[in-house]
Amino acid sequence: MFFRLIIAFVIVYLVYRMGKIFLSPSAKERRSFPGSPASIAGEDLVKDPYCGTYVPESSAFTVNINGETLYFCSKECLEKYKAEKMN
Ligand SMILES: [Zn+2]
Repeated sequence: MFFRLIIAFVIVYLVYRMGKIFLSPSAKERRSFPGSPASIAGEDLVKDPYCGTYVPESSAFTVNINGETLYFCSKECLEKYKAEKMN
């Protein structure tokens, strides 16, 4: 009788553990999503001189004008800034 009780406890424990394993991966995947704000926060932000937006250095569009490195949020801003500089 006592032995049966132990087996019952072991089964309940295993079912509980399996339930945890099946439930946890989806929650973990969402938290460690690549490009999450946590990884961007550690990066240096650079200012787009055309529109004034701050962008992470790694995802910014860079251009060298007269030996000066400039960072832009998008290719459009880069092109517009260059066009304005030329005139
Ligand atoms: Zn911009």
